[in-house]
Amino acid sequence: MPKRSSNETILKQTRDLQLVRFLYCDLGGIIRGKATHVDHLAARMTGGIGLVKGMIAMTSLDFLAPGASFGPVGEVRLIPDVSTFTRLPYAPRSAQMICDMLELNGDAWALDPRSFLKRMIARAAEHGMFIDAAFENEFYLLRKTETGMQRDVESLDSSLCFSGIGMDSAERVMQDIIAALTAQNLIVEQYMPELGPGQQELSIRHANALRAADNQITYRQTIRAVAAQHDLVASFAPKPFADQAGNGAHIHWSAWNKSHTKNLFADARDANGLSELAYHFIGGVLKHLSALIAITTPTANSFRRLQPHFWSSAYTAWGLENREAAVRVPTRYRGQEVESTNLELKASDPSNNPYLALGALLAAGLDGVENKIQPGASTDIDPGNWSDDERAARGIQRYPETLSAALNELEKDAVLCDALGAPLVQEYLVVKRAEAEHFEGKGDGYELTQYRFKF
Ligand code: GLU
Ligand code: MG
Repeated sequence: MPKRSSNETILKQTRDLQLVRFLYCDLGGIIRGKATHVDHLAARMTGGIGLVKGMIAMTSLDFLAPGASFGPVGEVRLIPDVSTFTRLPYAPRSAQMICDMLELNGDAWALDPRSFLKRMIARAAEHGMFIDAAFENEFYLLRKTETGMQRDVESLDSSLCFSGIGMDSAERVMQDIIAALTAQNLIVEQYMPELGPGQQELSIRHANALRAADNQITYRQTIRAVAAQHDLVASFAPKPFADQAGNGAHIHWSAWNKSHTKNLFADARDANGLSELAYHFIGGVLKHLSALIAITTPTANSFRRLQPHFWSSAYTAWGLENREAAVRVPTRYRGQEVESTNLELKASDPSNNPYLALGALLAAGLDGVENKIQPGASTDIDPGNWSDDERAARGIQRYPETLSAALNELEKDAVLCDALGAPLVQEYLVVKRAEAEHFEGKGDGYELTQYRFKF
């Protein structure tokens, strides 16, 4: 549809609204934006809304990272992608659009995460690969109470994993969440009460890579907002409680031909049903994983989650149906073996910026494809049960165990740095190192309270 007519179509849908949110996700993984009054929408859709450049370097703790390239001077424009327009079922007088950050001359800003993902999608397309993806999120629903000065949380209930008790206790809020996601064109696939008390998992259908990342923005916004309408607080923290299950945002992805008629990761002649391309992709992801997790699991709290034996993955292994492997090859659907062939990155959580996470995943995988990197043998046990020597013999490594260590790996990873581009990787390191330093010496558990309700 030509842009003019799609803008007009949108304007027709907004007459009863007051505000349209122009959203973006910053380097700290926080979803932010500005809203225009609907009367000015026509002009704002083409002209955008001004954003001070320094905002990209706000940490997830809401202070401007020391050493950031920009402060109070200089602006980009938040230019909405009109195809992302959606009315907000939980905020009936508002709608949202997701934005690119463009320089005043119209060029994509080097620090814009969404433009980075577009570049990686274009690189994949040069290889004839069109990527589909989905973020498979877990989150907690909690009640907040005031105990003196202390904010306290109680679990929604002590539901058992996958239990009927859990389904019933969360029935009303989950039904409202599903209705709100569906109204925004996200296709809900499965729901289950997860292991932690009050923890939920709700998966949505894959979409093209850009839409998948946009969907992650809509998903996080919607879950938080609908939970609040039920007097609940949604926590997307990677590890909201030290002694309970973590929240993953596992990334599922597959590669297709241009007409989306052929799944390029599937090959019926292979014992595992995987193509050479899929193996190379896994090889690339495993090769870069120690650096990649600086982007896919990017908070101090993320590294509390990535422990052996918690089904979140902790080692650079891949495996068939192995929930302790960094890259899991999920079971394919019976009768839809080819269509449902996909890969899953477990080392991803909802505190990431989905554009950076998916873009960096593609950059790592494409290195595997370009250089025909083999992933080695699959792992069919929990690699945490092997000794260090047994893992070393198989080329399997423990991930970096802190955010700082992962950031150092990222800085050394020429492939990821090259893909991100020097300005973006430098700014990202500045932001994330500021976050890591913030937690130094603050005592065990401080980051739990800081991150419990951030994302
Ligand atoms: N909660 C686990 C994680 O932190 C995932 C459990 C599962 O396999 O669904 O990623
Ligand atoms: Mg799960």
